[in-house]
Amino acid sequence: MSEWTKPIDTGSIPDDGSHFDVIVVGGGPAGSAAASYNAMNGSKVLLIEKHVWPRDKVCGDAVGGKSLSHVKELGVFDLVESTPHYVVDSILFGSANGAEVRVMLPKEAYAKMGLQSGFALPRIQFDYMMFKRANEIVRENGGAVIQGHGVTEIIVKGEGVTSIISGVKCKLGGRRSEEPELTYTSALTIGAGGYNCPVSRTITEEIHQEPHRDDKHFCGGYRQYWENVEGLAGEEGQIEIHFIDEVLPGYFWLFPVGNGVVNVGIGMLISEQRKQKGKKKSLKKIQKWVIEEHPRFKHRFSNSTLIDGSSKGWQLPFGSPRKNAPSHQPRRSAMAGAMCVGDAASLIDPFSGEGVGNALLSAKLTAQHFELAKHSNGFTNEAAEGYMVALWNLLGKELSNSTKLQRVMKWKRLTNWFVKKASKKPEIGIMMSEMIASKDTQTVLWSPWFLMKTLLLP
Ligand SMILES: Cc1cc2nc3c(=O)[nH]c(=O)nc-3n(C[C@H](O)[C@H](O)[C@H](O)COP(=O)(O)OP(=O)(O)OC[C@H]3O[C@@H](n4cnc5c(N)ncnc54)[C@H](O)[C@@H]3O)c2cc1C
Repeated sequence: MSEWTKPIDTGSIPDDGSHFDVIVVGGGPAGSAAASYNAMNGSKVLLIEKHVWPRDKVCGDAVGGKSLSHVKELGVFDLVESTPHYVVDSILFGSANGAEVRVMLPKEAYAKMGLQSGFALPRIQFDYMMFKRANEIVRENGGAVIQGHGVTEIIVKGEGVTSIISGVKCKLGGRRSEEPELTYTSALTIGAGGYNCPVSRTITEEIHQEPHRDDKHFCGGYRQYWENVEGLAGEEGQIEIHFIDEVLPGYFWLFPVGNGVVNVGIGMLISEQRKQKGKKKSLKKIQKWVIEEHPRFKHRFSNSTLIDGSSKGWQLPFGSPRKNAPSHQPRRSAMAGAMCVGDAASLIDPFSGEGVGNALLSAKLTAQHFELAKHSNGFTNEAAEGYMVALWNLLGKELSNSTKLQRVMKWKRLTNWFVKKASKKPEIGIMMSEMIASKDTQTVLWSPWFLMKTLLLP
């Protein structure tokens, strides 16, 4: 039995009515990290996850350098490195007309910058290790961890925008089960329940009457695992992103995850999906067509096998800035008594689809904004505002730049032209490599001088 398929012993369930400093709803990467960081700060934490480990999560499975720095900090890196994984040394970008550019992510150069080039490994494995470590840290610090219990209600005290979230109700088996409901209270509740998190829904729609979901900023994603895809054997090498016609401004990806398995998927903005009139509408159908009929890809799958049960769809809440946002960008993610992290705060990079890094970053930020001594009677509205401002200060620039890139990709001719240029001009490849390593470099891309010099001059 592999290490990450063994059950995780989370101990006994705390008594109904128990009080904690921090309750975390959801045990994905964001929730596991938020529980760990807050417990490391001395808080008594309750981490509640509706599934029982090991559990799958639909994803491209790429874990970038930003994620790995937190993975190191939380003491999970050695475990991750000791299990099967694929080391990403480059990204191959393909445009609609078939032009390709391979952007290198050299390990040595990255190490000099104190950065780590990325890994790719199945989320069932990665999330297991994050949750297992959170289970240890939380329980060592006097907290508790529950699996198999879905949060069914968020407890709100008071009325309207001056109300405060003060805990949760949960049930073995979730909402529809006949099991008794358990109530837990806390000074802070962290919403880490993914794209449909009950805490973020309460904060946005219920309390502040602000939109939670927006098709222009939500992306559909479809994933399958295939074995023996041509050109992607081995445990180190490239991952591939193809801006093919049928999915622009989304993309078709081929991410090897080790052991000869390749994560193959498609992502497209839901608002764009709706516009696909008369075309293949569902991502499932588009992917089937690409694999079986696309002139550039069908031969790569001619000897491949689909892994049974691996075809699944999910949603990605992007962190692209909203037009006329009613309060905070990308949307409200905190209020008195609560903060949201990861997908529950809509933080996925709108260009790359990468969400784990920002999930872990936001998780760490909650521990910096929740001060046990100051907030033991309840996390204040003022502190919640501080968290939202800090979150956008940290991520706003890169999320805005990625939004611009995502929009540029809509223009097929421009994408074709850019990839062709990049394949011929090494400095564009270097710039893209630096851009992936350090999001600060992204601003260079929008500098008119850089654009003119690099793209327009021969
Ligand atoms: C198709 C696709 C491809 C992607 N590719 C990549 C990629 O290659 N790299 C990358 O970095 N990101 C990628 N992402 C984004 C990434 O998957 C997310 O950003 C990441 O999973 C966010 O982590 P999270 O912990 O916020 O949410 P999740 O991983 O969704 O975890 C939420 C957890 O909360 C639990 N939960 C939900 N509701 C409740 C409840 N009521 N009570 C208790 N528990 C609850 C869930 O069971 C789950 O375990 C992709 C996403 C998709 C859909």
